[in-house]
Amino acid sequence: MSPRQGQAPHARSIRSGYPVPDAPVWQRRRPEAPARDPHTGHALVDVAIVGAGLTGLSAALHLLRQRPHWSVLVLEADRVGAGASGRSTGIVGPGVGGRIRQLHKRYGADTARGVYEYSQECVRTVVRLVEDEGIDCAMSPSTHLLCATTQAQAEMLRREERAFAGLGIDVPFLPRRPLSERLGHPSYFGALAYQPVVQLNPLALSLGLADAVVRAGGRVAEQSPVTGIRPHNGGSRLRVGPYGQVDARQVVVATDGYTPPGLPHGRRIVPVRTHVLATRQLSAAERAALRWSGHEAVIDQRFFFSYYRFDETGRLLFGGGPVCGVNASRKFSERVWSRLAREFARRFPALDHVPFTHRWSGLTGATLDRIPLLGPLPRQPGVLFAGAWTGHGLAMSVGCGPTIADLLTEEHTPTTRPWLRSRTGTPRLGPLQPAFVRSYVTAMDAVDRGGALVQRLRGVPTRNDH
Ligand SMILES: Cc1cc2nc3c(=O)[nH]c(=O)nc-3n(C[C@H](O)[C@H](O)[C@H](O)COP(=O)(O)OP(=O)(O)OC[C@H]3O[C@@H](n4cnc5c(N)ncnc54)[C@H](O)[C@@H]3O)c2cc1C
Repeated sequence: MSPRQGQAPHARSIRSGYPVPDAPVWQRRRPEAPARDPHTGHALVDVAIVGAGLTGLSAALHLLRQRPHWSVLVLEADRVGAGASGRSTGIVGPGVGGRIRQLHKRYGADTARGVYEYSQECVRTVVRLVEDEGIDCAMSPSTHLLCATTQAQAEMLRREERAFAGLGIDVPFLPRRPLSERLGHPSYFGALAYQPVVQLNPLALSLGLADAVVRAGGRVAEQSPVTGIRPHNGGSRLRVGPYGQVDARQVVVATDGYTPPGLPHGRRIVPVRTHVLATRQLSAAERAALRWSGHEAVIDQRFFFSYYRFDETGRLLFGGGPVCGVNASRKFSERVWSRLAREFARRFPALDHVPFTHRWSGLTGATLDRIPLLGPLPRQPGVLFAGAWTGHGLAMSVGCGPTIADLLTEEHTPTTRPWLRSRTGTPRLGPLQPAFVRSYVTAMDAVDRGGALVQRLRGVPTRNDH
């Protein structure tokens, strides 16, 4: 694990006093394969890819499909999927860059429609890759319900439904009563239902993609941290760990929220940490008590939303809570897990006796305008950065693989998209970044709490009053 991920092992459970491993539930199912060989010595390659998360692996695979004779080396500081990709909750759904009305206002109707449809295509790319490469990652179709926790949010979701309809896109609004019947709980004031969506085991997907890269002729080196990239002979020279060196014609930096300060955009991508709890497998009686089929992935509409879904073994995964920057203290994480546990108890009172067996957190990269970043560095054109997927990373990280390959091979010119850019639009905050992230997070949390309070003052029952 990289130092940013490091959390004390076997922290105590918040609910049961039971020791809870601080590791994603997916690791339990990680095959006990030895680490892939690290990179040592000197190598000369066509393309070096930094980071073996879904972005780096999908880019490598699509590139090798376009240029089977190119030498492609993926360098991973830790193990494949050690970053957000193997720590995520596995909900693969459409959407980019906040609300559709904002996208429409900012970029116009054609771009807003194109962006959303592209994100739907990204979900289909994931499905195709899993099927084509025969990856066993428990993929199943689902629906993503974005739920309102206040009346004001429900009205906003209705406006979103109308904005989608104006673009010819069907994202239906489910009113409160049918939604309560569907979810077996009167928590929410309404929801938007997004499609297409699949749920899967994201670590298995990452491991499967790494195998596919190797089958296609690429190399994946684990425990090979890149510590510097500098121009060299018309390409780039990468320093790898204490002894390795790679000269590459082109480089893709796919390190997202784990980008260290010394790598490109390391001080401009804002790393945010989110947290997850997982229960043990529920019994048939426990599931029946919920009066919910469990087929949907549910997310609420607050800035610091909760989201949940069943995994394929029947565990409930419950994530979210207030996020924090890269330097989250153990105490902060404990507070977030406790808050998540309280939210879980309110949403699932029938499961009050069920212990959490896993909990973990991970980092994702964000930009202040909530638009990803995919493009060459302004002053180093042979080096591309791809990341900051801000919220819908599973679909976008995999789905942008073909676009990254197009940029590297110059075979096709990708359609113009807002994220095809060289700069984040985020000012370089340097040492002020942690303080900035903390203040931003505190302000957003206050907005969430304020929304619930305003509603209570107006006499509208909130989800907490049920
Ligand atoms: C807890 C959690 C839950 C999430 N749930 C969802 C979800 O349900 N749906 C969804 O769409 N998105 C979700 N996300 C977001 C999604 O997981 C990410 O957007 C996506 O996985 C990013 O993929 P990536 O390959 O760009 O980055 P990562 O998977 O983070 O990969 C970056 C890799 O770079 C490596 N690296 C860093 N520095 C170096 C270096 N110097 N040298 C070599 N390698 C380096 C890291 O070790 C890491 O493996 C979640 C994220 C988290 C943290």
